Amino acid sequence: MTTSEIKQLYDRFVVANYRKLPLAIVRGEGSYVWDAEGKRYLDLFPGWGVDGIGHCHPRVVAAIREQAGNLLHVANNFYIEPQARLAQMVSERSFGGKCFFCNSGAEANEAAIKLARRYLADQAAKTLRDNPNAELAPTRYKIISALNSFHGRTLATVTATAQPKYHVGFYPLPAGFVHVPYSDADIVEKLVDEETAAILVEPIQGEGGVNVPSNDYLPRLRELCDRHGILLIFDEVQSGVGRTGRWFGYQNWGVAPDIMTLAKALAGGLAIGAMVAKPEIAKSLVPGSHAATFGGNPIACAAGVATLEAIEQEGLLENATRIGNQIKGRLRALAEKLSLIREVRGLGCMIGCELDRPGADIVTRCMDRGLLINCTHDRVLRMLPSMAATEQEIGQGMDILEAVLKGA
Ligand SMILES: *Cc1c(COP(=O)(O)O)cnc(C)c1O
Repeated sequence: MTTSEIKQLYDRFVVANYRKLPLAIVRGEGSYVWDAEGKRYLDLFPGWGVDGIGHCHPRVVAAIREQAGNLLHVANNFYIEPQARLAQMVSERSFGGKCFFCNSGAEANEAAIKLARRYLADQAAKTLRDNPNAELAPTRYKIISALNSFHGRTLATVTATAQPKYHVGFYPLPAGFVHVPYSDADIVEKLVDEETAAILVEPIQGEGGVNVPSNDYLPRLRELCDRHGILLIFDEVQSGVGRTGRWFGYQNWGVAPDIMTLAKALAGGLAIGAMVAKPEIAKSLVPGSHAATFGGNPIACAAGVATLEAIEQEGLLENATRIGNQIKGRLRALAEKLSLIREVRGLGCMIGCELDRPGADIVTRCMDRGLLINCTHDRVLRMLPSMAATEQEIGQGMDILEAVLKGA
């Protein structure tokens, strides 16, 4: 089908809830995709971060093919080998937690919010059992999250997402969510009270403009949570799985969360989500308390195992850092000459370039020249290139971006 034929079907049959670029992508390989007319594009924003190690990575494709020939799906009341293996790999590369698998970032965060509330309810019940004369403590249920965050689109996660534009028309929102400025631990300290259950933040904000927090932010949140006996939840849906040059974004600051959530790049292109919780906390999700029918299915988990193996065996963490430095170096040099670039920031393959004006037009002009990037938060050009991209591909992409920015 041609792009225009595909578009006609969309106009009639698909809900128009996405702002579209006028391309139908029909094939992908590594850092490149091809549209329905056969034109090739260098993709520095592959799958919104989902194709973290590039399009159709051969190891991932092979793992999916093999698993598909063996078993597509069984229910979670059976043991599923690829799920067990992926859980082990994630746990051993993070903080020794246990995994609950689901199918998206929103679902992973929803699980984290539910677990935090349930764990603290269990703690309160335990206190009362151990000491029947104890004063009944208030229920800890509030989740503190940051302005300009993004945590998903379900009712609870969109409420945690502290961007009013995503709330319009969806009231009433669930109760118990508190919003604070990002990278400001003083305010969080003032707002933690007897009803607080958890602090939920992205180690680096993605949709909010690729915002890297001050170096004391995550350590201070850790200290606050320890002092108050509440939970620290890191949303690593975008920053996790090697994106920042470490397995998980928080490892850049050396503080571990109590719960972390993953999705996007975890299965190299397939739908997956994971919530990872310290074993002591994970205990609160007893049988019957939470579930996801498709969660942890053999195909997605086999793809996840192959993705983590590829990152490890192909040295992609180091490559992510190299790519990031190359992009930041090029853009910062350009910023000396062009006043429209306000700031260049990010870690590894998670890069934002803040402009003095809206960036949508730049994205379109890059696309016309065969380069795919994104613009978030109106003025921040964002790149989440494949961790397996080569220096030459990145150089090519920067040449196009530079030409477009010079002409702006
Ligand atoms: C994309 C994203 C989500 C939502 O993930 P979905 O799979 O779209 O539900 C949540 N948190 C962060 C940080 C994200 O980038």
